[in-house]
Amino acid sequence: MGGTFDPVHHGHLVSASEVMESFSLDEVIFVPTGEQPFKEHRRVTPAEHRYLMTVVATASNPRFTVSRMEIDRPGKSYTIDTLRELKRQLPGADLFFITGADVLPQILTWKDADELWSLAHFIGVTRPGHTLDRTGLPETGLSLLEVPAMAISSTDCRARVVDGKPVWYLVPDGVVQYIAKHGLYRPETARVDDVAERRGRAANEGTTARTALPPRAVGAGQ
Ligand code: ATP
Ligand code: MG
Repeated sequence: MGGTFDPVHHGHLVSASEVMESFSLDEVIFVPTGEQPFKEHRRVTPAEHRYLMTVVATASNPRFTVSRMEIDRPGKSYTIDTLRELKRQLPGADLFFITGADVLPQILTWKDADELWSLAHFIGVTRPGHTLDRTGLPETGLSLLEVPAMAISSTDCRARVVDGKPVWYLVPDGVVQYIAKHGLYRPETARVDDVAERRGRAANEGTTARTALPPRAVGAGQ
């Protein structure tokens, strides 16, 4: 399962778990993307933080692992290179690539798209409110799975931290604590577009944006 994981949230974890169950997978390898200076016009949190949050989030599941493959690979990372590398590392394994269904149409534009479908079976998990246009997508080698995915996105989690709203229960507890410990997504470090989104939402809600972090929950530890 590839992703920016900025931060990893329960939508990712529920999807991975549901796909693992439905397709009888042995394990799910989370592959955080490498250092991309910008994603959809926003600055992405350093890879090491995103990697560590993913490790924290998956630590309790013996069938979830996290790979440093893309973050350690110099230069821009392509999914095709990751799948080729996994094939080399796990000869004989059947590979499945788990992604949000919203990303599937983009895959057609990815590097060596034709070969991608032969390296792995693609599973598009549906997110709330998303209907998939299958135009141009292959008939075989691709499955769609509806998961009880919650309407959680990393974008919303970041905006909530900027806003001083809690992200408890949207992301695993350890990730809440990691974000607080390292001051991630705080207003002073917030990315320009996240701040813009917060302002827009505050205006819509008729509320004033707050900047304080939520109080630490009782028993949350450090
Ligand atoms: P952002 O809001 O920054 O784009 P994101 O929440 O989409 O972040 P990514 O790291 O981009 O998270 O997602 C990794 C993969 O997980 C993508 O394929 C994405 O479509 C999928 N995904 C993200 N959130 C959910 C969710 N709530 N349910 C199911 N799939 C999800
Ligand atoms: Mg996304």
